[in-house]
Amino acid sequence: MKVTVFGIGYVGLVQAAVLAEVGHDVACIDIDQNKVDALKQGIIPIYEPGLTPLVTANYEAKRLDFTTDAKAGIEHGDVVFIAVGTPPDEDGSADLQYVLKVAETIATHMTRRTVVINKSTVPVGTADKVKEQISTCLRDLQKDVAFSVVSNPEFLKEGAAVNDCMRPDRIILGTDCDYAEKRLRELYYPFNRNNDRVIKMDIRSAELTKYAANCMLATKISFMNEMANLAEYFGADIENVRKGIGSDPRIGYQFIYPGCGYGGSCFPKDVQALIRSATGIGYEASILKAVEDVNSRQKEKLFAYMMTHFAGDLQGKTIAVWGLSFKPNTDDMREASSRVLLENLWEQGAIVQAFDPEAMEEAQRIYGHREDLKLVGTKEAAIVGADALAICTEWQSFRAPDFTHLEATLAHKVVFDGRNLFEPEFVADYGLAYYGIGRGLSI
Ligand code: NAD
Repeated sequence: MKVTVFGIGYVGLVQAAVLAEVGHDVACIDIDQNKVDALKQGIIPIYEPGLTPLVTANYEAKRLDFTTDAKAGIEHGDVVFIAVGTPPDEDGSADLQYVLKVAETIATHMTRRTVVINKSTVPVGTADKVKEQISTCLRDLQKDVAFSVVSNPEFLKEGAAVNDCMRPDRIILGTDCDYAEKRLRELYYPFNRNNDRVIKMDIRSAELTKYAANCMLATKISFMNEMANLAEYFGADIENVRKGIGSDPRIGYQFIYPGCGYGGSCFPKDVQALIRSATGIGYEASILKAVEDVNSRQKEKLFAYMMTHFAGDLQGKTIAVWGLSFKPNTDDMREASSRVLLENLWEQGAIVQAFDPEAMEEAQRIYGHREDLKLVGTKEAAIVGADALAICTEWQSFRAPDFTHLEATLAHKVVFDGRNLFEPEFVADYGLAYYGIGRGLSI
């Protein structure tokens, strides 16, 4: 099938590469000329396991192409994906300007029946706005071309995006058009051969499904962080509590890890956007507000421990930080907990010596101008000359460090573990002070 994808970000690029891999003919359009040029040279702008070989092989096989030429792109596709960003507006609501701009571009160049598939995460009612935008433009241009707008939200996880797109848990199709449904079932058939993962529904339900999924996951995290905070005051260990509750199949073990807060480009913005949407219809989303509030406080947690440990004096201290990305297996630092810690430390006059397996370039792009940040090439280099170690991301390579070496190297012999990677007793055996999340320490 001839497919066009607008927006070559995490979602657009992975989806395009995966569709090309199974044989579809995919044209990717972006307004960022540098990104397009880089991709044509085999330079992939994001880190995502398995993505580079997929993109290069399909580009070489001419099933995947990149351009800034929207007209050519729209002429190419029978189905056109919108996969551009929907960042938070000033009041937290989803900013739809990029989505609506693409809708206008599609209308301008559309010459034959087209199925417009919205993959971006958008508030309920956006498909109606996209339809309206396309209809108005077509009217202004005195063109009569049939089209349908489908809501097909994306559920990939950064860090496992290729696998998630290759083997989706579900394919949500929000449509009221039989023709569009048929085209999408055909498009996704290679991913859906054995078990029918398509869940067809009305457009508004599809739009809300995406927010409900992310808000549920964010709620699980904030709930556990709230329990972790209580555990600290009660002198309990949240890791025991986690195992205790996860054994109940109604609860399960997934997504109940306490930590120094969730980040990324999705949970924070989607929770906020649903709160704003709710406010817009006069409904107070109390649970979601609490989820957001707990998370904001949780991101301050490691810093609060440090202030206590160092009696409020971090001036001139060097803090080693392991992990800058918002989660492992990605270079994405959007809304990462590490950023809250770094910025708090700098405000107190501390120096940060940081290492991340994949996010170094991104850290350099965001904070490269700062003299109080040293980005180093290994986790071992990060602790040289440091007073303390903080862990913000649970990369696998951080899970079993040489504690003897840590004790010998860190001037203040203290570890602040924002992801509960270690057993406090083991760390204490090596003569290191240890702060985890919700492990019986009242701060
Ligand atoms: P991104 O910021 O990584 O990429 C967006 C791309 O769109 C950029 O390359 C930008 O240049 C391009 N763009 C903007 N305007 C354009 C236009 N008019 N024409 C063509 N290209 C244009 O965004 P992302 O992380 O891929 O997210 C895209 C959408 O998918 C968002 O709504 C997001 O909430 C949703 N989503 C993201 C994830 C994720 O893990 N990142 C997962 C599921 C859903």
